[in-house]
Amino acid sequence: MKSFLLLILSVFTNIAFAQTDSFYLLKPDRVFDGETMHGDWVVLVHGNKVENAGSMNFKLPANTRVIDLKGTTLLPGFIEGHSHLFLHPYNEVPWNDQVLRESSAERTARAVNHAKATLMAGFTTVRDLGTEGAMYDDAGLKRAIEKGVVPGPRMIVATRAIVAKGTYGPNYGNPDLDLPQGGEEVAGIESLTDAVRTQIGKGADVVKLYADYRWGKNGEAAPTFSTEDMAAVVAIAKSGGRIVAVHSSTKEGMRRSIAAGVTTIEHGDDGDEEIFRLMKEKGVAFCPTLAGGDAILQYRGWKKGVDPEPASITAKKKSFQAALKSGVTICMGGDVGVFPHGDNAREMVMMVEYGMKPLDVLKSATSVNADVFGYGDKIGRIKKGLFADIIAVQGDPSANIHAVQQVTFVMKDGKVY
Ligand SMILES: [Zn+2]
Repeated sequence: MKSFLLLILSVFTNIAFAQTDSFYLLKPDRVFDGETMHGDWVVLVHGNKVENAGSMNFKLPANTRVIDLKGTTLLPGFIEGHSHLFLHPYNEVPWNDQVLRESSAERTARAVNHAKATLMAGFTTVRDLGTEGAMYDDAGLKRAIEKGVVPGPRMIVATRAIVAKGTYGPNYGNPDLDLPQGGEEVAGIESLTDAVRTQIGKGADVVKLYADYRWGKNGEAAPTFSTEDMAAVVAIAKSGGRIVAVHSSTKEGMRRSIAAGVTTIEHGDDGDEEIFRLMKEKGVAFCPTLAGGDAILQYRGWKKGVDPEPASITAKKKSFQAALKSGVTICMGGDVGVFPHGDNAREMVMMVEYGMKPLDVLKSATSVNADVFGYGDKIGRIKKGLFADIIAVQGDPSANIHAVQQVTFVMKDGKVY
């Protein structure tokens, strides 16, 4: 038994050794480095970093393993800008029931599967914007992935997210019930700032705030926090090197968020030219989550491609095109979890369908997301010294965006999955 254990140990040691001391030469048809497409590039990986990327005019170390990736395009691992690994599609189980009727063990078990599916789809990083009732389990899952317990992407986590008291859900309209909520409820500035500090202490890399929600008199979305409230959150987060991501669909919610100095606005359905111009001026990025809204309408009965286009889809297209025209920075994030994990690239396809150029979508999902989220010195580009998070897709995604759904090779941190 003892010698068996020793054997196992030595096998693991060898693997670890091979990873830190090995060289891989990746030979695709072309390389997208996060900004530009190159026809004649190869990429040399050493350990968990990119050692060299460019034309093949450098000497190969003796122990280099060559990986032939003919017919493919090499790209930086995609960065999902808006995921919920602790949710699964609402047509399987409605959101209320996921929050109230699934144990944290079940939700974590599901999240483990989601993390693996995400990685294998070429998304080597996710910005996970709220566990929706699963407390701080995203911070725990992140550690488990880092320790190699389960495979998954790098995680940038928000933990519980912050909502204004009385505005979020589950809410069955029965005042006798005090139900657990999908986010951390706060009332005044005191509890708001306390929640920010607590969440950061528990592992939040990004602070997620709901600037509006459906608590209007007739169930319509209405602003929840004042500009001053949100500015206080931004100030605390900034001191700790964190950014603030804000859920907002109303114009007033977006206006207040912009004035407060948040980093990204999520959804932004009522955004128009004026709002997006303001965002561009103030350096606030926009994460449109096209695929999330599209999926929810289909769950409600819209037969896409058969039925006429719902008014909200037509409006979202118009709004997205206003964003493109304004020049606001656009992140790639689909609100995946509403639709199946591993199908993250659906958002990228829809961004092109709604009018964005394929190459710009590729930038959004790599270098733009990395820079906006504050990780540009580590991920998002194929560049010497950055982490070897590299994927290959069949064909040329700058010519046909559907190629991003044909992932044939995934490397994260120098390890091939
Ligand atoms: Zn979301």
